[in-house]
Amino acid sequence: MNYICLTLFKEMVENCMNTSIMGRAREAGLISLDVIDIRDFACNKHNRVDDYPYGGGAGMVMQAEPVYKACEAARDKVRARNESCRLIYLSPIGRPFTQKIAEELAKEENLIFLCGHYEGIDERALELEADDYISLGDFVLTGGELPAICIMDAVARLVPGVLNNDSSASDESFEGNTLEYPQYTRPEEFMGKKVPEVLLSGHHANIERWRRNQSLLRTMERRPDLFEKVELDKKDRKFLNEHRLENNLQAKD
Ligand code: SAM
Repeated sequence: MNYICLTLFKEMVENCMNTSIMGRAREAGLISLDVIDIRDFACNKHNRVDDYPYGGGAGMVMQAEPVYKACEAARDKVRARNESCRLIYLSPIGRPFTQKIAEELAKEENLIFLCGHYEGIDERALELEADDYISLGDFVLTGGELPAICIMDAVARLVPGVLNNDSSASDESFEGNTLEYPQYTRPEEFMGKKVPEVLLSGHHANIERWRRNQSLLRTMERRPDLFEKVELDKKDRKFLNEHRLENNLQAKD
């Protein structure tokens, strides 16, 4: 997986992507990252890439020309390899990022991330260059770097070899629309709280059932919107019916 990130703040992206699992994945050649400074494509001697918005209003807008040229420079790198790419503009007006979108992006050969700043980017550059618009959520950040880093991280985890154990990426929250079950590690008891007995039993089928049940309960309680999409089998239904029954009895007591 090759990433190219177009930004005005290179060090922000480089620093994060040099750390921990992402840093190791880059060193191992499992992912590559090329960070391009949009300011290198400024078309004036002061290296400015922003200007006042037509029509007035607060803040500055990134100019079309440097953004367009930076995007084309990134596309040229991909073209030189005869490969395909998707250029993503990080923006609050984009489709909200999800694990499903991470899976979709992991199928691409090259991902180019365009990070906006100030009040955003001249619409004409976006019309010419953006293949996709993605938002990190319904809030406004100062720049597209953090969303780009989050997306690069989430996608890289799906690249074979990036995680030590390939099954770790497929046994997590949002897999099958459920949230992950609770996790424990040593010691067996902490501040009077014990690790659930079943996890110490070594009985794999029982552990798997317990984890599935915990995932279902968590999803039902914390994310009813996701729970509606969970495909329940017979055992799931039986467990949930028993749980509901138990809770009703307790409520009556
Ligand atoms: N004026 C824009 C608006 O109201 O939608 C917000 C601009 S924001 C201050 C500057 C840049 O940060 C945007 O161009 C975008 O690249 C990035 N950004 C801010 N919030 C974001 C979010 N929730 N998801 C993705 N990118 C975001």
